[in-house]
Amino acid sequence: MKKVTIMGVPFLHIDQKGFVSLLENRIQQKEKTFVVTANPEVVMTANENPQVMQYLEKATYICADGIGVVKAAQILGESLPERVTGYDSMIQLLQAGNQKHYKIFLLGAQNDTLQKAVDNIHATYPNVEIVGYQDGYFNWEDNDIAERIAQTQPDLVFVALGVPRQEKWISENVDKFSHGVFIGVGGSFDVIAG
Ligand code: UDP
Repeated sequence: MKKVTIMGVPFLHIDQKGFVSLLENRIQQKEKTFVVTANPEVVMTANENPQVMQYLEKATYICADGIGVVKAAQILGESLPERVTGYDSMIQLLQAGNQKHYKIFLLGAQNDTLQKAVDNIHATYPNVEIVGYQDGYFNWEDNDIAERIAQTQPDLVFVALGVPRQEKWISENVDKFSHGVFIGVGGSFDVIAG
């Protein structure tokens, strides 16, 4: 698949609809997938911090989260079709999941926000099976969260821990899973909670 590299970060050349279709296929094929939706801040952070660049190197796909990345591609004489955001991807995957009965796990946000997001997803996408959820304020050094999530065999794990925490969590834990699409979605749970 075509990629456009901006400051060492290879962005997938794809539009929002195409990206969600791609992820639906990956779910159907049970191909493990780590998605980073990177905005200009992520590109800058990765260039300042080699550890963050290493998280991005583990990603299956990096997409252009924000018009800033699309504009940067233009300045470099390249083109990216449009921005592909974590929030839009999440909503469209929930819509697809409502038809296809996806199993999802939600990791991140404050407990009350997370609870509201779970309730709203349940009400709006009743055929999506929420196999579990965990707030984002846990002890990083000592927990069995990934092992517990893996037992629920989710098709999709939405990780809303902020940047670059969510990319760190996915890159450190993705090897514990046999399949699943893992996507960092920033503040999306707060938006869905309303
Ligand atoms: N968050 C979390 N654990 C943390 C820090 C943040 O779960 O240790 C959650 C926070 O509650 C919010 C989301 O991550 O739901 C995005 O946080 P923030 O706005 O700080 O991230 P950014 O916008 O910088 O990606």
